[in-house]
Amino acid sequence: MNTCYLCLKESRESLLGYYCSKCQKIKHLLNLYGDSVYEVLDLVLVRSPDQQQKKIDIIETKKVNDLHKKVFGEVTRQTDS
Ligand SMILES: [Zn+2]
Repeated sequence: MNTCYLCLKESRESLLGYYCSKCQKIKHLLNLYGDSVYEVLDLVLVRSPDQQQKKIDIIETKKVNDLHKKVFGEVTRQTDS
């Protein structure tokens, strides 16, 4: 089978190439931007346990707020003036 060497799923772009079309794009980005590609991947896709817990807390808070709005309706704030 003629599978991509990076993702190991898709077919290679050509018989002499190593990667599928999507992974070939990643290879081009690596050639263009070098190590900053790894930094961006770490910053955007890889999350520490603390960051994961914060994200879970945000999602849970949003679920509670959405449920509150569903039950009690939209709360409008009144300002003292
Ligand atoms: Zn691939």
